[in-house]
Formats: sequence, C-alpha cells, structure tokens
Amino acid sequence: MLAYTYVAQGDFQLLDKPMPVLLHPRDAIVRVTLSSICTSDLHIKHGSVPRAVPGITVGHEMVGIVEQVGEGVSTVGPGDRVAVNVETFCGACFFCRRGWVNNCTDPNGGWALGCRIDGGQAEYVRVPYADQGLSKIPDSVTDLQALLVGDLLSTGYWAAKRSRIGPEDTVLILGAGPTGICTLQCVRLFRPGAVLVCDSDPERLRFVRRHYPDVLTSSPEGLEALVRANSSHGGADVVLEVAGSPDTFRMAWQYARPNAVVTVVALYDGPQNLPLPEMYGKNLTFQTGGVDGCDCGAILALIAAGKLDTTALITHTYPLSRIGEAYDLFEHRRDGVMKVAITPDRPER
Ligand SMILES: [Zn+2]
Ligand SMILES: [Zn+2]
Repeated sequence: MLAYTYVAQGDFQLLDKPMPVLLHPRDAIVRVTLSSICTSDLHIKHGSVPRAVPGITVGHEMVGIVEQVGEGVSTVGPGDRVAVNVETFCGACFFCRRGWVNNCTDPNGGWALGCRIDGGQAEYVRVPYADQGLSKIPDSVTDLQALLVGDLLSTGYWAAKRSRIGPEDTVLILGAGPTGICTLQCVRLFRPGAVLVCDSDPERLRFVRRHYPDVLTSSPEGLEALVRANSSHGGADVVLEVAGSPDTFRMAWQYARPNAVVTVVALYDGPQNLPLPEMYGKNLTFQTGGVDGCDCGAILALIAAGKLDTTALITHTYPLSRIGEAYDLFEHRRDGVMKVAITPDRPER
C-alpha cells in the first residue's frame, strides 16, 4: 500500500509498504477514507520532533472504516465508520483514569501515531487500543465533518474546557490558524462575553470575520488597544496561546488581567522566557500544553447537533498519490490554504 514516510530530516516520500497487521488483541486495522496534514507533520519533517522515528508513516489526523479488530476490541467492529484519536492510551493507568491520556504510561502512550508508530497518511493504519482510540461517527456526520475530531478539535476542546471560561469573560485567542479556529469554536461553546482573536496574517483574520462576525480581530500591533477597549479589569480574563512564537508567548501574559488563566496550546521550537520580576503581582495561572484527546465522543455529538463545524477549514483536497504537492501547498501557505484533505486514490470497494 502507499504510505507517506518520514525517511530522514527534510525528506518525506510516498513509499510502497506492506499492509499493517494486527499485533495485539486490542488493535484495529482501519482503511483510511480521509486524512489531513498537520503543522506537527511539518515539525517532524524539519527535525523538531526528536521522538519521531525515521521510517514511520506520518499522519495522525484521519477517519476511516474499520477493516479488522483484535479479539480484545468490542466497542467497534468491521464496517464501522470511525474517527481516529491522535493519542494512544490504555484507559486504565493512573493518568488515563484521570483523563490525562496524553501521559498514558504505556510505552506508546500519548502522540505515537505518525510519530513513533505508523500513522494514517496511507491506505491503511493500525490503531492500538482501538477501544480507546476509535470513536464511531454518527450517521448524520460526514467524513469531512469528522476529519479534525481526533486532533485539532480535540485540542481546541481540551483547551477551552480547562480554561475556566465564564459567561462574562473576555477571552483572547492568539493565533487564527486551523488550531486557533478549532479553539475558537470550542471557546464559543462556553458563551463568553467577548472573544478576541489576534494573528499577524490578514487573510486568516478575514477568515475569522467572515465565519464568526461577532468575534473581534486584531493584528499584533493593534491588540493592546483592542484588549483595553474590551476588558474592564486591565486585560483578558482568559488567554489561549495557540500561535507558538516568542512574541505570542509574551503577549499571552502581557494582555492577561491579574489573576487570569493563561492556557498554552501551542508547540514551540524552543524554550520561552517567563520574566517573573516583570510579572510580579499578576498572579496568573499558567497551564502548559499537551492535549488530552479523550473527548472524541462528545465532540462528534456536538458536530451532530450542529454546534461545531470545521468543514470551512478544509480548503483543498488532494489524492494520496499527490500528497507531496499537498505538503508543498500547506507548508508554504499558498492559495489561502487552511487545511488539506487527502483522499484515497482507489475507488471504494
Ligand atoms: Zn496534529
Ligand atoms: Zn494509560
């Protein structure tokens, strides 16, 4: 089968590989019907994910149809349409029992698919702990609607859920890329008083205004004035940092009011500086990043109920055989790209 593979730093190739097989009773084999490219895939490509293993098939955001399950899997079966979770987790260890599945103590716990074990930019993928890692897609939800459930929507949902958003709050989201938009949709579920979104890319801000007319947008230069005009206590009540640059990290604590919650969603390329003397007295609660992606069922129900819809984010579609072109477009942010969907080449059986 075709599988997009991390060959070496800077080198991904579409290779012909053997079909995956069940290795454990809790495994499932899924025929991938739609996958996507994530910024984390680019991080692997550029060598900033040291845990990534050369030779693995990349891709950790996909939906598909279950082909085969091990004898220990009872929650899904062959023929089921499923969303695949970015994280692998056992469901039974200390961390899993508390919902902190990103820190599952299994050797492959956390983000393993498409990083440490073969992922889903391929025709088929093996999913470990399939009873935890696969969620049935309701009949009324399309593959396209479910495509971001396991990764970006899980991230946005986790970030919004842990940010203690109240009905009067002013919430500031730094970053209006695909993860920022998914975070924005999930933040709105908590009905805060005002939502402000900041990005340096005017095209991304236009996207926000077009789809969410009640959300206020700003470039980094105009943000201070916007925050001041829309908060009564000297800053945002909640800040979600989704962009991942030293500038946005600084803005996250700078534009938070005293005693605010600052949730870091982004992944950085290097350490960031918390200037504690300057921040003294702000009494911020900082939450560091790493999605606990175990709410796929709830997210799918919200999609079915019409409360989340990320289909507008999927701006381009390529067949797997042309995935190299899709990466090129996504990496260089050409043609207004937000997310790319990758379809199988072969017609469905
Ligand atoms: Zn991702
Ligand atoms: Zn676990």
